Amino acid sequence: MLKGTLAYIGIGANLDDPPAQCRQAVERLSGVSGITLERVSSFYRTEPVIPESAGRKQRGELEKQNWFVNAAAEIRTVLSPRDLLKELQHIENSMGRIRTIAGGPRIIDLDLLLYGQEIYEEEGLTVPHPEMHRRLFVLEPLCEIASYLIHPVFGVSMRGLKDRLDDNKTVERI
Ligand code: ATP
Ligand code: CA
Ligand code: CA
Repeated sequence: MLKGTLAYIGIGANLDDPPAQCRQAVERLSGVSGITLERVSSFYRTEPVIPESAGRKQRGELEKQNWFVNAAAEIRTVLSPRDLLKELQHIENSMGRIRTIAGGPRIIDLDLLLYGQEIYEEEGLTVPHPEMHRRLFVLEPLCEIASYLIHPVFGVSMRGLKDRLDDNKTVERI
């Protein structure tokens, strides 16, 4: 019996050679003790999505930013969700991520999308990721590697979530 929980990580970047940043993040992820990399999706070129919360001035800034590269990874891990998130943030920081406005440009973004079938609602940690079901740039790569996965809150597969999504932003496989 394999040890650990299957978890899914959303990967995104739109600064300084985004595909190279995503590859670097995958490599660092696979080097973390307690994490085994199982699968990685193709990379996708995706149109930036502006958060609902953005004001008018911010919206203008966000619309001007580069397109993103997004991907999804399946890992097996013996780390708790909290420790896993810490490792993701450590990779982001070590790769030089600077936090600006929400939805703004970033060298790397690693989100914990799913952790087995578990549900967490804690300070600084919500799993499944609260926006994943609304985002084609998350669901498209995730469907490539695990379309059958069930979202533990909605009881719907990733394929089902993607099919019912009304997100007209461009997401194209590189
Ligand atoms: P979004 O979360 O909408 O994709 P973002 O990735 O730009 O936006 P960040 O600045 O990277 O947002 O993260 C903001 C906070 O989200 C982090 O400090 C982290 O504690 C919290 N957070 C809560 N749940 C998760 C999760 N499942 N994965 C990653 N971060 C999470
Ligand atoms: Ca994110
Ligand atoms: Ca994030």
